[in-house]
Amino acid sequence: MINNIFQTDKTVFSCEVFPPKRNDDIYGIFKTLDEIQACHPDFISVTYGAGGGTSKKTATIAAYIQNICETEALAHLTSVAMDEPFLRSIVKELNAKGVHNVLALRGDQPRDMSDEDFANRRFKHASDIIPIIRDAADSDICIAAACYPEQHPQSANLEEDLHFLKLKADAGVNFFITQMFFDNSKFLRFREQARAHGIQTPISAGIMPITSAKQIGTSVQLSGSSVPAKLSNLLAKYGDHPEDMRKAGIEYANEQIRALIAEQVDGIHLYTMNKSDVVQEIYDQLRR
Ligand code: FAD
Repeated sequence: MINNIFQTDKTVFSCEVFPPKRNDDIYGIFKTLDEIQACHPDFISVTYGAGGGTSKKTATIAAYIQNICETEALAHLTSVAMDEPFLRSIVKELNAKGVHNVLALRGDQPRDMSDEDFANRRFKHASDIIPIIRDAADSDICIAAACYPEQHPQSANLEEDLHFLKLKADAGVNFFITQMFFDNSKFLRFREQARAHGIQTPISAGIMPITSAKQIGTSVQLSGSSVPAKLSNLLAKYGDHPEDMRKAGIEYANEQIRALIAEQVDGIHLYTMNKSDVVQEIYDQLRR
């Protein structure tokens, strides 16, 4: 299980994939996973659609990672549209498929969910599902959760966010993965504050290599992460030159990663959007 890897001294390397929209694209993601697996990450995570639409695909892909790639799989699980029997059934399905690592999330309000249904959802927060996941598991289970170096967009301030993060840590989370960030100083300050709040749980840093000008707009809109001048200058310089932008974006991510390793980060989680070539390049450059 992944929690054992975090107990070693090394930096834990991981990356994230998402299920394809079309059912017949599932073989495409298997090929991508074979390529990622050749880079030997410590684990690979699979996202979960907030409305539950991808739940079967998430489990199938996680099982492929665990059993065929022989790499630890982390299955994301968003509870916003779930009731308790469904949550329990998913944990049991994952366990039956050999998957014993879960990222416990609340999720965002799905487009087809009314404000009333969102307000009345069974599980208010990620911390509510952690004990149920543990109880539903057929044996030991490793549970991860999300955290936000620049605070969650719905939090009044970072202090409030850290208060609720401590609840997740106290509920027995084995490690955290951060929202993507482009400014290491934000992460380092957040990690220091988390430790000051008594949160000793390992924190893996979420890094998204920006390989196109279009990508940053969507990512920043979704995450609320700030963009430092150095990165916006790269976008201004190379935004209209796709090849140069890709190279500069990967270099920027690599610089971020090297500096974080020097700061003894617990882990590096790559948000690589199913791009195995980007994972390969990042890992190659890091090993040089
Ligand atoms: P929570 O932990 O519930 O936090 C949400 C807000 O509520 C925060 O403001 C927090 O401070 C506050 N809060 C927390 N606990 C309490 C409490 N007990 N009482 C009052 N307030 C509280 N989305 C997907 O749809 N699918 C995915 O696969 C996915 N993967 C992700 C992976 C990572 C690493 C990250 C960082 C995010 C991911 N997301 C995913 C997005 C995530 O679902 C959203 O950010 C969502 O808005 C919050 O989920 P959460 O689990 O952090 O929620």
